[in-house]
Amino acid sequence: MKKIAIAIDGPSGAGKSSIAKALAKSLNIIYVDTGAIYRTVGLYVYRNGVESRDKEKIISMLPDISVKLAYIDGAQHIFLNGEDVSGLIRTETISRYASDVSAIPEVRAFLLSLQRDMAKETSVIMDGRDIGTVVLPDAEVKIFMTASAEVRARRRYKELIEKGESVVYEDVLAAIITRDTNDSTRATAPLKAADDAVILDNSEINAEETLNRVIDIIRSKTQE
Ligand code: C5P
Repeated sequence: MKKIAIAIDGPSGAGKSSIAKALAKSLNIIYVDTGAIYRTVGLYVYRNGVESRDKEKIISMLPDISVKLAYIDGAQHIFLNGEDVSGLIRTETISRYASDVSAIPEVRAFLLSLQRDMAKETSVIMDGRDIGTVVLPDAEVKIFMTASAEVRARRRYKELIEKGESVVYEDVLAAIITRDTNDSTRATAPLKAADDAVILDNSEINAEETLNRVIDIIRSKTQE
């Protein structure tokens, strides 16, 4: 297969990462989860006791941060100043920090080449918010995956309950709406579909059907 880049963007909880992981496995190419990169910067800020909206302070901390990606047994691991923090970045607090720090243009510029470099030599599936619009504007396949806030909140609620966490559905929904608003109204690289992206709303379909549709989109785009 010739080198290709597949960009999957969309709001949190739309199922991007599960689909991208499954596809990467079946196509035998790398999956780059760019949200993890923003989460890692968020973790650094949080650990240093800095408010997630303290823009000036966060910008001044950037030279002290090194973020690296590595693949171990096919799974992405993320390193913050040499420490594997993959297991520490998936909390609700760090979600909020990631969303806030990612609105700072200097943070986005700081992380841009890391993301682009991942797609330089090999085929990738990259998911995020601005992959098709900013990071890989020349990607061969661009998909904007979305679902209603209620459907995404229900899925996330179920996931958290299955993990044994005690959460209230209304709180999960409110957090999703806040993050959507944050991500889509920021001035730099807001969450939006690229003009040439295929929109895939999976509110009414399950994961298997979503995967089938994505495979069809990739097939039609790579045979054009
Ligand atoms: O995808 P995930 O939920 O892990 O992303 C965490 C946060 O990082 C998002 O809410 C978003 O604010 C930010 N992000 C971003 N651009 C990306 C990926 C994630 O701004 N490409």
